[in-house]
Formats: sequence, structure tokens, C-alpha cells
Amino acid sequence: RKSCSLSPPFCSFARLRASATLSAAVVLDGTIFDAAVTINPLRDSIGQLLGHVVSLRDISGYKELQQMKDTFLSTAAHELRTPLTAVQGFSEILLTRKLKEDRKTTYLKMINEQAVHVAKIINELLDISRLESGQGMTINAEIFDLCQTIREVVHPFIETSTIHEYLFEFQTDPLMVHGDPFRLGQVINNLVSNATKYSPDGGTVTIRLATVGDYAEVTIQDEGFGISPIEQQHIFEKFYRADAAESVAGGTGLGLTIARLIIEMHEGKIWADSRKGQGSRFIFTVPLAKP
Ligand code: ADP
Repeated sequence: RKSCSLSPPFCSFARLRASATLSAAVVLDGTIFDAAVTINPLRDSIGQLLGHVVSLRDISGYKELQQMKDTFLSTAAHELRTPLTAVQGFSEILLTRKLKEDRKTTYLKMINEQAVHVAKIINELLDISRLESGQGMTINAEIFDLCQTIREVVHPFIETSTIHEYLFEFQTDPLMVHGDPFRLGQVINNLVSNATKYSPDGGTVTIRLATVGDYAEVTIQDEGFGISPIEQQHIFEKFYRADAAESVAGGTGLGLTIARLIIEMHEGKIWADSRKGQGSRFIFTVPLAKP
């Protein structure tokens, strides 16, 4: 009984006598949304047309996802093209010019870095499709020391970033948990990488580890540009990237989705706590090893 109006192309379509489905912009109670509209003619026992039954299905979520997918495809193409151009350029120089050893090493290092970057993007794409289809990604759970995994994952960041400081705050050391060390390392790597990437002016990245009930709680805190409350509602969604992210760094918008799916497979939780302009905290929990 709600007031509803359909856009003009649909009205002419409604005069057709066969059943039909189309997508249309529908105004319901003053709000416009995208809907799949199905019209079925209603006839009496001798086939006389009595009217039409119209059903509306809200497809705005689906449309939004399509839009994000389109944006993602152009981002992914760009993300892949940039490192590949570098690989092509540097390898050509190496092949065509006589260079001093140190120059050669610099170019080879750059090629390697770019190849690692391409591999990361491709792995994210493979992970997301495996995780979503529920096939192919298994959790190989074992008992391991989370402190050691954190140190191993953070070490390359300490080695490479000149403007960030990485601080460990562990309440207990070692801290034995039950989970997949490789997959949890991947989650920590993604969160530390984001903390670094989204604080382009540098600052301290603090990695905190505590126990809460039967769980280990890991916090990764940065002093970067933070995330607004509206953006926070979406950051764990597939392909989502906040506006500010586009301007500072490359990315696919898949890292946090993969992190969330991995943590959920461990029956833990992951969430963010951030203020625009004041840095972010990402927190996740994983089960402690049972004594
Ligand atoms: P990506 O980094 O590839 O864009 P993610 O899924 O890892 O994708 O993150 C999604 C979005 O969440 C990012 O694009 C960014 O807008 C926001 N975000 C994630 N981590 C941080 C952080 N530490 N500080 C500010 N924004 C962040």
C-alpha cells in the first residue's frame, strides 16, 4: 500500500500484455531505488485481461556491487600495468646497455620489487575467489607462538621504511595460539602494510598483543590519516576503497575482505576503530591454544 511510482519507460512497457521483467528506477515513499520489476498479466477464466501484478525487487545492493566491480577492474588493470611497465623498462635497459655492477643491482632490485607487487595483487585475486567459493582455502591449524609470527612479519617493514617506527607491546611473550600461522601472518602483514601505506607522513605503528578470555587480541595502531565513520562501515567489503586511499596509495580494496574471511574461519573477530585525521586501530582475535 506504499506510494510507488515508476519511471516513464517502464509505464509504456506496462501496457504490454506478456509477462516481463526489467530493471527500473523506482520511487518508493519519496526514495529512488533500483529495482527489478516483474509484471505478470492477471486474467480471468476466459482469458480476459483483468490487470497486472507488479512485483518489485530492490537491486540497489547488487547495482552498487557491480559499480564497485567496474571500479575494481580499472584499478586492477592500472595496478598491474604500472609495475609491469617498470619491469619491462628496467629489463630493457639491462639487456641493451652496458652498466656498472651497482647500477645493474639497483635495476634488478627494482624489477624484483615490482614482480613481488604483481604477485601480491594476483594472490589477493586468487584468495578472494577461493574464499568466496568456499573451496581451495583451508586452515591448517596448529599451535604456534603469535609473538614470533608478528616479529617475522613486521621485520621487512622495519628494514624498508625510513619514516615509520614499529613498536611491539606484548603483555605475554611467547603467546601460544591455535590457528594457521601462514594465514594469520597474511592478516598481520596486510594490517601492518595498511598502517604503513595510509600514514604517508610516517609515525609510529604500534603492535599490541594481549589475552582476553580464551582469545589473543592483536591491535595494530597507526598515526595516519584515519577513516571516517561512514567509510568504516564499508572497509571490510569487497573492492571498497575510501576516497583518500585512492590519492595516497595503490591497492585493490580486497586486503581487509580477505583478512575478515580468514579471521572468521578461525572463529575470531576483526574490527576497526578510527577517527579521521587521528590514526586508526585495527583489532582482531584468535583462539588461544588450550592448555
Ligand atoms: P587496499 O589497501 O588495497 O585499498 P584494503 O581492503 O586493505 O584495500 O583496505 C580497504 C580500505 O580501507 C583502504 O582502501 C583504505 O581506504 C581503508 N584503510 C585500511 N586500512 C587503513 C588504515 N590503517 N588507515 C586508513 N585507512 C585504511
